[in-house]
Amino acid sequence: MEERTEIADLGEFGLIDHLTKNIELQNASSILGVGDDAAVIDHFGRQTVVTTDLLVEGVHFDLIYTPLKHLGYKSVVVNLSDIYAMNAVPTQIVISIGFSNRFSVEALDEFYEGVYAACSRYGVDLVGGDTSSSQKGFIISVTAIGEVSPDRFVKRSTAQKGDLLCVSGDLGAAYIGLLFLEREKKIFIESPGVQPDLEGEAYVIGRLLRPEARKDIVEFFAAQQIQPTSMLDISDGLSSEILHICKQSELGCVLYEDKIPVSEQTRNAAFKFEIDPTACALSGGEDYELVFTVKQEDYDKIVQHEGISVVGYMTEPEKGATIITKGGGKHALTAQGWNHMNK
Ligand code: ADP
Ligand code: MG
Repeated sequence: MEERTEIADLGEFGLIDHLTKNIELQNASSILGVGDDAAVIDHFGRQTVVTTDLLVEGVHFDLIYTPLKHLGYKSVVVNLSDIYAMNAVPTQIVISIGFSNRFSVEALDEFYEGVYAACSRYGVDLVGGDTSSSQKGFIISVTAIGEVSPDRFVKRSTAQKGDLLCVSGDLGAAYIGLLFLEREKKIFIESPGVQPDLEGEAYVIGRLLRPEARKDIVEFFAAQQIQPTSMLDISDGLSSEILHICKQSELGCVLYEDKIPVSEQTRNAAFKFEIDPTACALSGGEDYELVFTVKQEDYDKIVQHEGISVVGYMTEPEKGATIITKGGGKHALTAQGWNHMNK
């Protein structure tokens, strides 16, 4: 049997020490980390960006098919994605956890392995947190802190008419990954002996369980001296995020269905479920790609990056948010996709 150490054997302080004892601070801005009443951070004249996310077992994740190490990694990454969406660089995180007595020290170790893997991959310091027991299940709260030069942060409300609408990476994969895992979970519950059939679906499942934040895109902007005019990360599906830009910037937009990047794996997987791959990209969510607008004069710079697609442009508000479908139809874009999608 696997080793199981009860958390009660360590006690709260013993557990915190156990989980945080190997931290080596990497950022000059991390003045004081774990071990005092609060962390001390100095961004040396740069502006500070803060974001937080709460993840609740049974609501945001299902431990039946989510390895704890992946969960730790993802809990950090989704927060870093929000920092990058501000065109900022993440530097510190604090992480608070609540867990029932179902969880052992070994289970929390696995979770923290993922947390530290993300910290190391993205160069951020874990500088604090809080630890509590819970009646039931696992609760995770991560707060990420980042820095940005004054006047470099990017809001949702500052897109201009004529700006190019762009997205990074490819979309819709995480949603399909979720469909596969939910399908296998159902089969497993109905007939526990059956082995999961996820052959060939590693890409879409990986996109759900172990997403990455687009650090590289923000670095590309800095290197190419591109200042996006608006930006956000895609957590709820492309259409919902585009509508945020339109609403907050008081503009309309034209989005071309045939320009929306969807991977071959996502396309094939969508057909297995008999759903439209475009619908997955528009309303799926959890892609953690970036959607942003740039000035038209940045077009030549933007197209140099293989991982960026220009998918449309911003218009005057009177034109509304529209999508031009592959068949040439013009429809109003809604948070669910577009208004004729399910006809
Ligand atoms: P306090 O009682 O002042 O809130 P705690 O005993 O909760 O302090 O925490 C002691 C130190 O350990 C603090 O620096 C806190 O930020 C850190 N810490 C507590 N829980 C965690 C955790 N789950 N992960 C990382 N650091 C933690
Ligand atoms: Mg505390």
